[in-house]
Amino acid sequence: MPRKKREMEVTCSYCGSKTSIFTVTAAKLIFCHIGGAIGVPPTKDCLTEYLKRKEVKNVRQKQLQAQQEIKLKKEEEKRKKEKIKSFSSINQKLEEFHDIVGTPKTKRTYL
Ligand SMILES: [Zn+2]
Repeated sequence: MPRKKREMEVTCSYCGSKTSIFTVTAAKLIFCHIGGAIGVPPTKDCLTEYLKRKEVKNVRQKQLQAQQEIKLKKEEEKRKKEKIKSFSSINQKLEEFHDIVGTPKTKRTYL
């Protein structure tokens, strides 16, 4: 009676299918790695797929972050402009004040 060949079956971290041919990453993630040899691309390589997807995710994340930063910058500028506007109304008030008090035009100071 031939001995039963023992194969280790694992679940792929990427596609979820059971496989006995796999690669394990440093982060202890398991991926299918079927076929392939030197100079021959594997027929199934979930690690590469996983890394590709991760890269896309990272790029998207960075884009979102950049958009968020632009948005914050715009809001900051808007706030600044509003502040400056409020200062100009202060200057108007100062002008009125100088008019009432009768400060000579050469001695009037503004913000
Ligand atoms: Zn897989």
